[in-house]
Amino acid sequence: MENKEFDAVAVDDLSRLSRNNHQMLTLVNKFNFHQIKIISVSDGIISDDENSKLGIHIRGLINELYLDDLRKKTMRGLEGQKLRGFNTGESVYGYKSHPVGDLKLNKKGQPKYEGMIHKINEEEALIIKRIYKEFIEGKSIHGIVKRLNEDKMPTKKNHVGGWATSTVTRILKNEKYTGRWVWRKWKNVRDPITGKTKKFARPKKEQMDLFKEELIIIDQNTWDEAKKRWKSLDGAWPMHKKTQKTSKQSISYIHSNPTHLLAGLLKCKSCGGAIVQICGKSGGYYGCYNAKRKTCTNKLTIQRKRLEAILIESLKEKFLTAENIKYIFDNVEKAIAKTMNEVPAEVKQKKAQMETIQTELQNLLGFIKAGNFSKLVSEAIVDAESRQENLKGEIQALDFQRTNAFKAPPKEWIDHRLEKFQETLNKNTKASALALKELLGTIELEPVQSSPVVENGCVIESKPYYLAHSNIETLALLDEKHKGTNWYLLRKRRDSNPRYPCRYFCFQVRFNT
Ligand SMILES: [Zn+2]
Repeated sequence: MENKEFDAVAVDDLSRLSRNNHQMLTLVNKFNFHQIKIISVSDGIISDDENSKLGIHIRGLINELYLDDLRKKTMRGLEGQKLRGFNTGESVYGYKSHPVGDLKLNKKGQPKYEGMIHKINEEEALIIKRIYKEFIEGKSIHGIVKRLNEDKMPTKKNHVGGWATSTVTRILKNEKYTGRWVWRKWKNVRDPITGKTKKFARPKKEQMDLFKEELIIIDQNTWDEAKKRWKSLDGAWPMHKKTQKTSKQSISYIHSNPTHLLAGLLKCKSCGGAIVQICGKSGGYYGCYNAKRKTCTNKLTIQRKRLEAILIESLKEKFLTAENIKYIFDNVEKAIAKTMNEVPAEVKQKKAQMETIQTELQNLLGFIKAGNFSKLVSEAIVDAESRQENLKGEIQALDFQRTNAFKAPPKEWIDHRLEKFQETLNKNTKASALALKELLGTIELEPVQSSPVVENGCVIESKPYYLAHSNIETLALLDEKHKGTNWYLLRKRRDSNPRYPCRYFCFQVRFNT
């Protein structure tokens, strides 16, 4: 256009340029600027004609209105198909489209089925389940992708080796696999200046929420677990490089993808900095990171394997005994029961309110019996009844809380859990590192320079050693089902008050270096 390679453009009608009025007028202006004629044959419009302006504007308006109408009709058509339980052409990994109903001729004379429905593609569903399983086990997305490609798992288009992190991420975040098919979640809007389209979330009332039980591939439990893992990954490098700009605090990669049993857990007690692997010799040595940068005086190092072995051994032998755990759980139970004692006062108060309403209702009924029925009275009755219902619900909720308060599990159960926990510790580094993190939190290593001992007139220089300090969070041993609401209650309290009583064991382990 800029090089004046042509003098005129002929179109069938103006809607061929663009159905969007604004865009069409911009184009016409641009052509005018470059002295290029537009000839619209069926509209009978030539753009350099002085009288064409009105015609162009009106045609543009009509075309745009037509487009709006068409959009509405299409949407209505699609909505009808959706309501009848058919799919409208979206292709989702894990499902195949299947025609249903009678074969009929449509308006154009083409044979068409009444609709298409989704069915689970069993082969793809297995792969989806595998992806979720590995993800929940703590495997990295990169690793999942690598193994899928190595095993030559088919992707949607049957391209072998076509798995990418984005595909797996999308599968791991697609709630359609839990049976929730939300339609019209997004809306594409075109930027009037640049012409680029952008995706916007539609308001909830425009969305269409369909639950399709027959299409469930991932059960709710698995989905929740995956969601939990996403939460723990949130802000972890290198998944979200952009989070620096937001208020979200970045979690270091090592915290969400620990490579060693204690990676990301160790802290230097002298400076508060991280204890990291500072040398790779014979399986690696841990030491204060700041000491390496000469901002901390703690130069003590300790062999990684040694540290792991001693810590786990003492943890198993001295602290994770069923008796110890039972003792703590019993105390937790007592502490909770104590706070729950405050509840009956609230219940009493609510029950008294219930009685007041009851009398109120009786009075109103007496009123009616005396022949004084009016709109006002009936409204008062409705109001009193709804207040009564609310109170009933509140009292029930309070009672539920009380009866479902934390109860210390029996010793056999604790035995079983401990056994399972130790099994994990022996098996998988990543899973056990994450489990240890929940149980121990950070471990502080305190370098101790023991003073020289005089023995038989000789000065014996004793070696410096590390003392490990940690709090054992015993409630972390409970499984999700047993943690319940009170666990969150305790967690919240712990966050605001680290001294919340009796769930902790403080423990110290001595390491000679
Ligand atoms: Zn230090």
